[in-house]
Amino acid sequence: MPHSVTLIPGDGTGPEITEATRRVLEATGVQFEWDVCQAGAETLAKQGTVLPEEVIDSIRRTKVALKGPITTPVGRGQRSANVTLRKRLDLYANLRPARTYQGLRSRYDHIDLVIVRENTEDLYAGIEFQRGSPELEELIELIDRTTGHRLDSEAAISIKYISVAASRRIVKFAFDYARANKRRKVTAVHKANIMRLSDGLFLSIAHEVAREYPDIQYEDRIVDNMCMQLVQKPEQYDVLVLPNLYGDIISDLSAGLIGGLGVAPGANIGSQYAVFEPVHGSAPKYAGQNKVNPMAMMFSGVMLLRHLEEREAATRLELALMQVLAEGKNVTYDLKPRPDDPTAVGTSQVANAVIERL
Ligand code: NAD
Repeated sequence: MPHSVTLIPGDGTGPEITEATRRVLEATGVQFEWDVCQAGAETLAKQGTVLPEEVIDSIRRTKVALKGPITTPVGRGQRSANVTLRKRLDLYANLRPARTYQGLRSRYDHIDLVIVRENTEDLYAGIEFQRGSPELEELIELIDRTTGHRLDSEAAISIKYISVAASRRIVKFAFDYARANKRRKVTAVHKANIMRLSDGLFLSIAHEVAREYPDIQYEDRIVDNMCMQLVQKPEQYDVLVLPNLYGDIISDLSAGLIGGLGVAPGANIGSQYAVFEPVHGSAPKYAGQNKVNPMAMMFSGVMLLRHLEEREAATRLELALMQVLAEGKNVTYDLKPRPDDPTAVGTSQVANAVIERL
């Protein structure tokens, strides 16, 4: 039976890398029935929205999507399609593996980290109070009355919101992932020494959940120290679980540790649906040029295959990608010593090289 998967090419360079990824996935021999759904700049022009309802309906039906990047329109009153998708489908876990492969130009050799970022709350919940608004005045009054702190009314406030339920489910997700993927350790990352109540809550829930997984090592780190440790001795870390903002920052730091966005895959996972996509954005300046690296999306395709329990095909595709990287010949400009290297190949040539090695 073919796997029914929603395929969202996205915009900018999205359609090119999506096509390259679709080709390598099909070349593994796994059967797919793609439900291709448009989202992004084109649907904004035609339908007035970057995320048509059909996309959500399709994922509700197929349960799983492979997605190219989507540009966030600036200043047109449109919310990011990416954030909306995560919210509408309650994709609460953002999973971003960061692994060094032979052939990548990185300062490090043996990095194998998995970042598990909470995707729904924290400072990203979008609860903000505008400077000069009556709501801000009301909040300032409340804070004065309840804490004795009188805030300056010439200010803006964003709420950092951390709940027991969301903390518990993300930490459980990290431990379940560690157990299922034979990882040895989970590190909870926080700033509970300063934000004693919000990050303190996250940390106390992490301690509580960790006791349910005696087979997996557990520790915690303060986020600033974590940054330094990741730069100095990244090999000591394994699975990291973090609230939304720290997760965002640390996952980009980790992409930098392994040699850049061109090879950093990701997934957004909820209890019912999963959306696989590269970490990078739509790189619009290169759209239509057959130039950008499709490997981050192809590695996201490896994650998709594992999610569909096509483990053998996933391993085969991962090995083919590793081989192309190690050979260093059929790779795009971003993996060359200089971006104007004339031996760099295009997006579709990378796909051909991967298919030949499958
Ligand atoms: P970007 O990731 O598109 O680009 C950052 C830099 O990396 C650029 O120099 C770009 O050319 C390069 N780059 C990115 N992907 C590459 C690839 N596959 N191969 C080679 N080089 C690559 O980030 P940005 O410029 O900040 O964002 C562009 C748009 O994408 C914005 O509208 C942003 O909101 C959106 N975005 C979407 C997603 C998503 O769909 N999940 C994620 C991040 C950003």
